Amino acid sequence: MVHHYHYVIVLLLLFFTSISSHQHHDHDHDPSIISTMEQFSGYSILEPTSFSSLSYDAQALQNQIDELSGFSDAPAPSVTRVLYTDKDVLARRYVKNLMGIAGLSVREDAVGNIFGRWDGSEPGLAAVATGSHIDAIPYSGKYDGVVGVLGAVEAISVLKRSGFKPKRSLEVILFTSEEPTRFGISCLGSRLLAGSENLANSLKTITDSQNVSFLDAARSAGYARDEDDLSSVFLKKGTYSAFIELHIEQGPILEDEGISIGIVTAIAAPASLRVEFEGNGGHAGAVLMPNRNDAGLAASELALAVEKHVLESGSVDTVGTVGILQLHPGAINSIPSKSHIEIDTRDIDEERRNQVIEKIHETAIRITKTRGVKLTEFHIINQDPPALSDEAVVNAMETATKELNLTSKLMISRAYHDSLFMARVSPMGMIFIPCYKGYSHKPEEFASIKDMSNGVKVLAFTLAKLSLQ
Ligand SMILES: [Zn+2]
Repeated sequence: MVHHYHYVIVLLLLFFTSISSHQHHDHDHDPSIISTMEQFSGYSILEPTSFSSLSYDAQALQNQIDELSGFSDAPAPSVTRVLYTDKDVLARRYVKNLMGIAGLSVREDAVGNIFGRWDGSEPGLAAVATGSHIDAIPYSGKYDGVVGVLGAVEAISVLKRSGFKPKRSLEVILFTSEEPTRFGISCLGSRLLAGSENLANSLKTITDSQNVSFLDAARSAGYARDEDDLSSVFLKKGTYSAFIELHIEQGPILEDEGISIGIVTAIAAPASLRVEFEGNGGHAGAVLMPNRNDAGLAASELALAVEKHVLESGSVDTVGTVGILQLHPGAINSIPSKSHIEIDTRDIDEERRNQVIEKIHETAIRITKTRGVKLTEFHIINQDPPALSDEAVVNAMETATKELNLTSKLMISRAYHDSLFMARVSPMGMIFIPCYKGYSHKPEEFASIKDMSNGVKVLAFTLAKLSLQ
């Protein structure tokens, strides 16, 4: 109870200091401050019943996460929740219901991005938004994305219970299909919100592996009713003054270093390449070495060149991976006549990453000459620009962690998130919380109640601050 009391005081103090010019912080028991806060909040601060109603309910969030994980096509503790399946629709209903209980007005767009809005005192101003995703790749865990959706609803509830009145409206967003599982497109909802004309066009014809079209799948889930044109989803410029996403780190740094909060300053973005070589096959014994045009060795040489070019960038933030390398015909006594490799390269610096791609391309062409093979494909599958967090949003998150006496660290998100795309249409920031051993995308994924509580509190503070700016 004492802990909650202090939290409420600090919370309200933050609102107070945001509107008055200067206050010092160490006066929890100063009666004049309490009466000023009472005036500001409209609550009786010392009345015990309002304490319990203002308190942050960490267990409730955990219960909601557990309940949501039940909407799954895999047995617990695994979670499988794929876009527009029955379980996805039920999970969406569950979240909309929670938004309703929190007093948010709920709206959905044509692809099922869900918005829960709390009107501020000046609803005409650009709103402050937060959110994440609830879809889960096959046999993954229950925290990825979910913490940033259910935690956001809880953060807003905390603010409501505290008597806080936002100036800018606050919105919780559930993004459709962050994971590429069904249609091969990651961050489908946020990409579309950010105004991707290419995506809006390709969604008219795209199908899943069962040959179900995107539009039919969306309709079966109650979306895209009478429209083939999905450009209605595009956000108008200036809809949001800030966007913040709360997410598990999906890496081991915060846990290793014993730090409560990661403040993300940049999100690395991947580029994916598909490369194919064609040479001459032949018998592994009969064809002598000088007479070979081995497509397998061409691919191997390119794979090693990927590593070399990435290391040449001189930055630890540049990474490259050859995750797929296939040889045809794939027999021990047959010289590979065809090879197929897929390359993922990422960086927080777009130009540097694109230079790596350029070098990989040059090397691929050189290999065709030295090995007498053909480069039958060099295709850039996608090449999304990285994003930097907004300085004002980072400042608000840093101030929040200080007010809450939490340890924090500035860091880079090496995985990408819906925030990468929201950054195209709004100032953006992300809050990371530790997760067990950095595990993610598997059933062992875990974040403690304490770490989630910290994340929700930092989010609530940050939203409150930004809503008054
Ligand atoms: Zn995620």
